Amino acid sequence: MPEQVVRSRDHLQADCSRCAALCCVLPAFSASADFALDKPAGTPCPNLRADALCGIHDQLVERGFPGCVAFDCFGAGQRAVEVVIGERPRPTPAALGADPALSTDLGVVLGVLRQLHEVLWHLTEAVDRLPAGPLRDDVEAERAEVEALAGSDRAVLVGVDASARRRRAGPLLERASGELRSRALPRGQRPARHRGADRSGVRWRGARLRGADLRAALLLGADLRGADLRDADLLGADLRGADLSGADLTGALFVTRTQLDAARGDASTRLPAGLARPARWTGGRGPLSR
Ligand code: SF4
Repeated sequence: MPEQVVRSRDHLQADCSRCAALCCVLPAFSASADFALDKPAGTPCPNLRADALCGIHDQLVERGFPGCVAFDCFGAGQRAVEVVIGERPRPTPAALGADPALSTDLGVVLGVLRQLHEVLWHLTEAVDRLPAGPLRDDVEAERAEVEALAGSDRAVLVGVDASARRRRAGPLLERASGELRSRALPRGQRPARHRGADRSGVRWRGARLRGADLRAALLLGADLRGADLRDADLLGADLRGADLSGADLTGALFVTRTQLDAARGDASTRLPAGLARPARWTGGRGPLSR
């Protein structure tokens, strides 16, 4: 198995201190299991404080806002503010809500950048983990193109078809996953395949899922305590409420911070390189600074 080298993805991490609470003002919420209230688009969430930080960030799940935990802008928020606001003072939530033109502008740029940054998150991981060769070269070429696009100005960004970039990256990530998982498994061992399957509530305590294809699987509330998830592909898997206590996710592919934030775990859960243990798992404060 290739050495797992971790390239910095710092610019793909949300930094709410450099944003303008875009995700708490711009979208509309419908009261549901994810958000405890209705909120029109362009209106500040009532939980938002005047300093643009969330007033309940350490109780989001308990107060009925798990959707906020599960959302990750991948650093697109602060970049959208940089691109659209530039050197001007950042608007307060109230000022942003009162300026429909600015809200629309920021919303368009944020929507594009969020998709590009998410693609970059995964492409960067693939580049870092693939061995030298044609596949790695192809993934790196795509990563570099998307990185350049994400660094464009507003005029370019508003015309980007970010969904098309995601579709372009999909087959490359698929090939990278196949290559990396086959290299990780003992010869002749076939990985479990649960791609896109609804395995909500499944009892997989101690299960041997090394190298499994769990892409886009629904694992809500699944019991994965002590499971062997090494080198499993978890791209887009829904881990809300899943229990990862004692599980081994070393080398698991395409895992995001919000997947971990939305799951449960403990001090003995082993994580993929480059991802921090959510503070909530060990009794700390919530995951969000917003
Ligand atoms: S993070 Fe807090 S302020 Fe922002 S939308 Fe969620 S509950 Fe509201």
